[in-house]
Amino acid sequence: MIDLGALQRAAQEELETVRTNEGLESWRIKHLGRSAALMLFLRELAGMPLEQRKEWGSKGNAVRKELQELCEQRVHEILVASTTQSIDITQPGMRPNIGSLHPITRVKNDLNDAFKLLGFEVYDGPEISSEGYDFDALNFPPDHPARESMDTYWIKTKNSQSQGAKKLDLRPHLTGLSVRYMQTHTPPFRFVYPGRAFRSESTDAGHEQTFYQYEALVVDEDISLSGGKVLVYTILERVFGKQVTIRMRPGFFPFVEPGFEIDMQCLQCGGEKCSVCGDGWVEMMPGGPPHPNVLRAGGIDPAKWQGFYINIGLDRLAMMKYGINDIRLMHSGDLRFLRQF
Ligand SMILES: [Zn+2]
Repeated sequence: MIDLGALQRAAQEELETVRTNEGLESWRIKHLGRSAALMLFLRELAGMPLEQRKEWGSKGNAVRKELQELCEQRVHEILVASTTQSIDITQPGMRPNIGSLHPITRVKNDLNDAFKLLGFEVYDGPEISSEGYDFDALNFPPDHPARESMDTYWIKTKNSQSQGAKKLDLRPHLTGLSVRYMQTHTPPFRFVYPGRAFRSESTDAGHEQTFYQYEALVVDEDISLSGGKVLVYTILERVFGKQVTIRMRPGFFPFVEPGFEIDMQCLQCGGEKCSVCGDGWVEMMPGGPPHPNVLRAGGIDPAKWQGFYINIGLDRLAMMKYGINDIRLMHSGDLRFLRQF
């Protein structure tokens, strides 16, 4: 018969000298593999009388179990040893990459904070909208060029003859969202609605197919033009962090009556005329009181309620604030650009 005790002692002593995974694998093959002395012995037992089989079988299996457990323990010890050895605490640490907010997000958050202080609600809605909201409800005439697919991304639906609410688009501006709000709220109210808009345009330093806008609408019983100017000043002074001068010129937009082009005195030259502005003024945004048809589309009586819209390009505002000269950088995902903010 084999000396199980001596066999176990020899295997254990050898195991204590093992320092690597390769060494451990050789040890396992030698002592627990198919041709290990212990395994051969256990197999030979099969041909022995029952009494011997019982007695030696249980002794042999106990040794095998013991060696297997010691082996697993050694795997763990080797792993721990290799991990601790690889940490050199005298090495300088790795600087973690900390993300930052996109310039558009920063300007948007700033504006949201400013308007919330003035009691405005921040509203959001779907990017997939419809001809009904984006044109019909906003008093765009049926033949208005902006309806053409040159500018608006229309979404193919089963019925190509669809019109109005059934003719879907990627919203080319945010103003349709104000109608959704009006239809579900009772005036007086004031809210802003920042978001992304889409237009099928060729891109250059000043144009992108995807861009961000920031709109505000106040509806109350008595809103004057000077009330509208307060909105404009709130936006511009918040973004640029200083007092600004604005002027309002007549401009035509289907959803406002009367419509205005709102300009800000150039911050580069203070109105003295420079290469940025040309004539001392920078065009900032359209605005004006909602057209009565737009209020009606929102379920609001234009005889009783008045309002004021402003609609500003967030990309453009962020570009002016941070001195960025190409709108395409905004959506490029270029880390060299983004890490500056
Ligand atoms: Zn200027």
